[in-house]
Amino acid sequence: CGIIGYIGDRNVAEVIVKGLKRLEYRGYDSAGIVTADRETVEIRKGAGRIDNLAERLGFLAMDGNRGIGHTRWATHGVPNDINAHPHKDCTGRIVLVHNGIIENFVELKGELLKRGHRFESDTDTEVIAHLIEEELKNSENFEEALRRALKRLKGSFALAIVYADEPDRLYVVRNESPLVLGIGKGEMFAASDVPAFLEYTKEAVFLDDGEYAVITKNSYVVKRINTGEIVEKPVHKITWT
Ligand code: GLU
Repeated sequence: CGIIGYIGDRNVAEVIVKGLKRLEYRGYDSAGIVTADRETVEIRKGAGRIDNLAERLGFLAMDGNRGIGHTRWATHGVPNDINAHPHKDCTGRIVLVHNGIIENFVELKGELLKRGHRFESDTDTEVIAHLIEEELKNSENFEEALRRALKRLKGSFALAIVYADEPDRLYVVRNESPLVLGIGKGEMFAASDVPAFLEYTKEAVFLDDGEYAVITKNSYVVKRINTGEIVEKPVHKITWT
């Protein structure tokens, strides 16, 4: 299982497909991609190998200024096209990928169903998108809603999130599942592991459990989920290739 996120001026789909291939060693049964620009958000996903999916679904024809990709190792819901990530909320504006397990997803899903949310998949992951959507109703902005939702999750989660209404940024999260930022010049990467972006940058910032980051083309800021406080992180220079 693996995650790759990219925001910058390169061919987004190409960076993501290459990154996913470098994460193949981690194992997976399905894969998917979301790309987005100012107006559109596009998702393509399915069960199977990356090469086959890339050809069948035309991953490389996808366009945008930012995107995320995922390889899934199914834990909740069989490996099929619908359960493949990305998953989205009811509005389709909040799109995310997840590695890990949400231990309290049954309870959260029950609560969200009562509030009128409709689910497409059998995954634990999909509740996260709907929970953020729900929290957005009581929050000043998306970041606050994200933090409120994350505080309610129990279990392990590395996440990468596209919010359609904020076209200049991506959000990534780490809790008991790895997530590292790749710091470029005029571009930013995020991934489960360094090899996914090593061909583009050797500067890495490793998130710790309970942290999330907001990344734009030219900036990144790491904060604590619980308090929203900024965390100063060391930049590691990767010396292996
Ligand atoms: N628990 C999630 C699922 O089954 C994520 C699995 C993973 O880590 O790839 O869809």
